[in-house]
This record gives sequence, C-alpha cells and structure tokens, in this order.
Amino acid sequence: MPGIEEEVVQQAGRAEAGAGTGDMSPEEFRRFGYAVIDWIASYLEDPTRWRVTPATEPGAVRDALPPSPPDEPESMSDVLEDFERLIVPATTHWNHPRFFGYFPSTGSGPGILAEALAAALNVNAMLWRTAPAATELEQHTVDWLRQLLGLPTTFRGVITDTASVSTLYALAAAREANAELRVRQDGLPGRAEIPRLRIYASEEAHSSVEKAAVTLGLGQSGLRRIPTDERFRMDPEALAAAIREDRANGILPIAVVATIATTATTAVDPVPAIADVCEREGLWLHVDAAYGGAAAVLPEMRWIFEGCDRADSLVVNPHKWFFVPVDCSALFIRRPEVLRRAFSIVPDYLTTAEDDRATNLMDYGVSLGRRFRALKLWFTLRYFGASGIADRIREHLRLARLFASWVDEHPEFERIAPVDFTLILFRHRPPQLTASRNGAAAGSDDQAAVEAALAEHNARLLEQINATGEVFLSHTRASGRYALRLAIGNLRTTEQHLAYTWELVRRIAGAT
Ligand SMILES: *Cc1c(COP(=O)(O)O)cnc(C)c1O
Repeated sequence: MPGIEEEVVQQAGRAEAGAGTGDMSPEEFRRFGYAVIDWIASYLEDPTRWRVTPATEPGAVRDALPPSPPDEPESMSDVLEDFERLIVPATTHWNHPRFFGYFPSTGSGPGILAEALAAALNVNAMLWRTAPAATELEQHTVDWLRQLLGLPTTFRGVITDTASVSTLYALAAAREANAELRVRQDGLPGRAEIPRLRIYASEEAHSSVEKAAVTLGLGQSGLRRIPTDERFRMDPEALAAAIREDRANGILPIAVVATIATTATTAVDPVPAIADVCEREGLWLHVDAAYGGAAAVLPEMRWIFEGCDRADSLVVNPHKWFFVPVDCSALFIRRPEVLRRAFSIVPDYLTTAEDDRATNLMDYGVSLGRRFRALKLWFTLRYFGASGIADRIREHLRLARLFASWVDEHPEFERIAPVDFTLILFRHRPPQLTASRNGAAAGSDDQAAVEAALAEHNARLLEQINATGEVFLSHTRASGRYALRLAIGNLRTTEQHLAYTWELVRRIAGAT
C-alpha cells in the first residue's frame, strides 16, 4: 500500500495494535482510513496495471496464509501489506476495463463510498424501528429505479442481494398465491392430496430458476423448459401446449418465468404473448431482467419491457449494468402482500408500536437481518443522475455495435447471435476449418465434424486469449455452436480497450 509504511509504521507498532478491549482508536482509524482511500483511488485510476485474471492456482492463496488465526494483535499496516501482497494479485479484477466475461459489474466511486458509510452505520434493516432511514431509503430509491425503468406505479420494490434470491422470492410468492394449497402451513412432503407443482421457463433461462424450484421443494422436474425459436426466445405456443399437457396429467402449473436478455445470448422472450398465456391460465408471471433491464432507462430500449406491466414480479440487478457494487438486486412485485404472506413470521420480541404504520423489511424475505444496500443505490443514482446513467448505457450499446461490426467485417470471424444489448457472441472460422462452406452440399456428418473442430479451435483460442491476462472473455454455446462471449458493461471500458482486445484476439488467432 503506497505510503502506508512510512506514515504509520512507527505509530501503529505491533505493541499497540488491537490492544485493550475496545476498537481501533479514532487517530489510527483516520490514518489508515486515508491510506485505504488513497489505495482505492490509485487502484481505480488504472486497474490495467494488474492482469484481469490472476496467474494463480487453486489452493495457492490458502497455502500462503497461516493455518491458524493470530493469537496476538497484528498491526494494521501488516494486514494491509498482506492485502496487497496476497489478496490483490490473486484477484480477478471485475473493475478492469478489459473484463468482458459473464456480465460485467462496476464498483463505481459513489457506490464504493456508500459501502464504506453503510459499514460505518452498520444498521440492520430488519424492522423500521431498527433502521428507519435505511427502510425508507430502500422503499424510496427502489421506486426511483422503477420510474427510471418506466415500470408501472403498481409495482412495489424490495432490495435483495442477488437476482437468484429475487427470483426465489418471486416464485415463493407464486406458490403462496395458491393459498388453498396451504404450503406455508403444511409444507409439501407426504401430502397425497397435493398435485405436483410446475414452473415454466425457456431452455435459455438462468440456472437460478432451477435452483429456486429445488429450494421450494418442487424439484428439478418441477421446472419445465420450453423450447426457443431461432433467436433463442421462448415459444409461447409451446408454452401453452406444455401447460395443457401438464394439466391433463394432473400437474398444477403455478408460474412462468420470462427472461429479458438471457445469459447465453441476451434473447428477449415475447412477454406480451407469455402474459396472455399466464392470464388465461391464472399463472404468476415473473420476469428475469437481471442484466438487460437496465437498458430500459433509454427511450429507444423501452421496448424490452413491452408487456411487463402485466407481470406479477420482475427482477433487475443494479449491481450488474447500473454501476452499483455487488451486491444489490431489485425485486419489483405487484402484490407485495403475497410475498409478505409467504415469509412473514413475527415473534413477540420483534413486534413494535408502529407495526401498523411502518414497513418492516424482514417480512419480505428469508433473512431477518438486512444490509443497508439502498445507500449505494441512492449515491449512484444521485451522483450520475438519470441522464448520466442513460449516457453511459448508450455508450456501452454503441461500443457493442462497434465490436460487432469489426467481427462482421472480418472474413475469418463470424457472429453467432444478434446484438440487442452489449453481448457479442462470435467465433474464429479459419480457412482450413470451413470445408463445409465451399459449395458442395455437406453431409450432416461433415457438418458435425466441422462444428466439433470449430468448438475445439475456439476453446483453445479462448484459453490463449485469457492466459495473456490482458483481457477476460467467457464462452457459451448457442444452438450447439461454441462461441466466445464478450460482454461490455464496466464504466471504465472505452473504445481503446475494445480496439486493443480485437487486435489481441486477431493476433492470437493468426488472423490479422
Ligand atoms: C446474472 C443473471 C442472473 C443471476 O444473478 P445473481 O444476482 O448473480 O444471482 C439471473 N438471471 C439473469 C438473466 C442474469 O443475467
């Protein structure tokens, strides 16, 4: 940590570190606080000084750590030194401007500052009484987010840690909406009178939907995967047919999960048609817009939420493409009282005088204790403003289209899916592997062999690209085709970073 050593080593010697029975002294906190903020500022100034993904092996970090906790107090400068020596070099830098894997996330300046303050206040927002400001700021900022995304006033929001938990809560509410099943009271096991319950989502839906089915006692077979069309969107007719078939077999459908911007290819399910099916069948409609929902701040991207005013719940992650540090997910729900019914259990010691006038956030989920996540959302929304966030998201969309155009213009590369958001799926198709393209109708065996060779070639290419530590891409399969996956979404990514990456990809592929 630059500067820390000289400034503090004498004052905060081993002898006085952690001494006594209280906390760090205000003087010491101030000194190290300044040093930590200085370190963060230079870290963010140029994260490209580090490899995006570290050159480390599983177990290496643990091997470098003492096997047991320190018996005696250690000085803060030793701890910070080890942070720099052991932790930072073994970190995958999500704040690196050439982090293009999965869906990127940004620890923005305002978000980082808010996190520090939230830790300082250390409120536990279980009851309004235990955290009046955190409770009301959460209700308020999540409503700001609703307005920014153009969602209807009928939605109420709650903040959770991740989209996986938001979706779990939404589906728990969907189960509770069938109150006659008495699942809350009597559970599911051993009840012959209860039919098998089923949730529907597309083949491309996120694994969190399946985890929710497992957690809610529906099992993996409680989720039915609906086929998609050539653009990876759920086929609403196949959905309707699956529901009909299940009902005929005595299965009880309870919910449909539509996805806006799927993880593999950013496909947008046809929510209006899916909402028709849900209304006709009386099913809960949950929309997973964890990453892509952020784009709705732009008028030209509002179309993605078409039909979502008819959804029962919808999740967007401010910690993905809204520049709020991990973790922060917003669950919007039209009937919050159903979510409350699913989870609220109030022992006597948690009752308060204002229960009839105040919201107690513990009633809307599994955990009693809750972090003050709204503070970083509030800081971020205010610091950038609606127009600042829109400008940044628009720029990311521009960068994605630009990268897609480079891929399209190159004879040896091909794109695998449309670019509606900031995800580009592409692969290298070297001349020696394009046999099936040269006129003669290739048999399906040839085709399969070419696909396998292309997959192997591109997997190797990805490994070589990421091994440089200069960039980080991930991969996926779309319609059985292996694709490199480049997603844009970090605030620090510029056109130069993309140009550098494209140059590096071409060089390693031998396709300059
Ligand atoms: C990222 C993502 C998730 C999971 O998000 P977590 O917050 O990590 O749980 C779920 N669905 C979609 C569509 C996603 O993009």
